[in-house]
Amino acid sequence: MTIACDVLVIGAGAAGLMCALTAGRRGRQVRVVERANKPGKKILMSGGGRCNFTNTGTGPANFVSANPHFCKSALARYAPADFIDMVDRHGIAWHEKELGQLFCDDSSKQIVRMLLDECADAGVVVDVGCEIHGVVREDEGFRIDTARGRIAAQSLVVASGGLSIPSLGGSGLGYALARQFGHAVLPTRAGLVPLVLTGSHAERLEGLSGVALEVEAESGGQSFRNAMLVTHRGLSGPAILQVSSYWDAGEPIAINLLPGVDALAFLREQRAARPASELRTVLAERMPRRFAQRLCERWLGDRPLRQFDEPALARAAAALSAWPVAASGTEGYRTAEVTLGGVDTDGLSSTTLMSRSVLGLYFIGEVVDVTGWLGGYNFQWAWASGHAAGNAA
Ligand SMILES: Cc1cc2nc3c(=O)[nH]c(=O)nc-3n(C[C@H](O)[C@H](O)[C@H](O)COP(=O)(O)OP(=O)(O)OC[C@H]3O[C@@H](n4cnc5c(N)ncnc54)[C@H](O)[C@@H]3O)c2cc1C
Repeated sequence: MTIACDVLVIGAGAAGLMCALTAGRRGRQVRVVERANKPGKKILMSGGGRCNFTNTGTGPANFVSANPHFCKSALARYAPADFIDMVDRHGIAWHEKELGQLFCDDSSKQIVRMLLDECADAGVVVDVGCEIHGVVREDEGFRIDTARGRIAAQSLVVASGGLSIPSLGGSGLGYALARQFGHAVLPTRAGLVPLVLTGSHAERLEGLSGVALEVEAESGGQSFRNAMLVTHRGLSGPAILQVSSYWDAGEPIAINLLPGVDALAFLREQRAARPASELRTVLAERMPRRFAQRLCERWLGDRPLRQFDEPALARAAAALSAWPVAASGTEGYRTAEVTLGGVDTDGLSSTTLMSRSVLGLYFIGEVVDVTGWLGGYNFQWAWASGHAAGNAA
């Protein structure tokens, strides 16, 4: 038996559910097929269980894509305020943490519940625990073979996400379908991911795991001021996760350990005011003591300030403002929050997210080559791209 519907959405994640409820509200018969045993697993895990569901400052500059203009249209037509309206209608309490990041007061479960309630109201059928075996073009639409039988749909929306965290649903299905239908897929790699240090780079930070400090991390022409955390394997924390999306293997990463401070002027001032003080004592007033001590032992010199002549002071200042990190790699998809790269936007309409070559085929959310910064931007892209496709499919 073949089940017929107007719109079949593959993936009951953030983008898929938003697309489904939007298309359902237009009177379309919508079915969502999800391989996992429950919908919205990443939403449930997000934001430490409180889902950083949007960022009020979202703009195109907060996304990484081969075409930085592509995301503009969808983002402009579904703003953070639109999602906040839905959250408010469902009586979900939220708060702003920092930098426009909005979180649920209670639990990310409320966001999944809200999306499922909206889907149910719009008559959407959500089929979980259902694997896709294959998709073919048939007549004017698509035939989808699943573990539960055959589905015929006029429109097919691929919302199967990226490769990150396979246990939460990460899969390559979306890329395979894109290729099958003649779309280019740009190389993928882990984004918003901790960096791994090896050899002498790791040894120099041995024993410091758990130490956190505010830094400005720079790579690939982009810098982020936020916390950095030393881990057992290397470096993490928001500043590092952010910069990881701009870092290419083998490229340098520079960490300003005194963000917002003119390091040379500061050191000169300190030398004049307290020449007998050790450099580590002075730095420990600006960063964790253990980190300051290790910096002086391994990089800057461990002696009183009066023993730093001008060239030595300038070298110390340079190292403090651009502490070089040579990462051997990232922790990879196992811990990455997102997947960079993906379905090439050149083949998609930026207004509807529909394929330019295959009528009725859509790609939305993380499977597309649009990746947000840390801080609610990825969900905003999922909502916006889902909404755009849901209004057209
Ligand atoms: C731990 C973690 C925390 C995060 N926290 C935040 C945050 O607080 N704020 C934020 O903005 N972003 C956050 N992100 C990123 C965000 O979760 C994703 O960018 C977003 O979920 C992408 O939405 P999507 O719908 O495209 O993909 P997903 O949410 O990944 O949904 C894809 C769905 O497709 C399903 N699927 C995959 N393959 C198949 C198949 N073969 N058949 C059927 N179904 C399939 C998957 O099971 C999944 O349910 C976080 C990510 C992680 C991993």
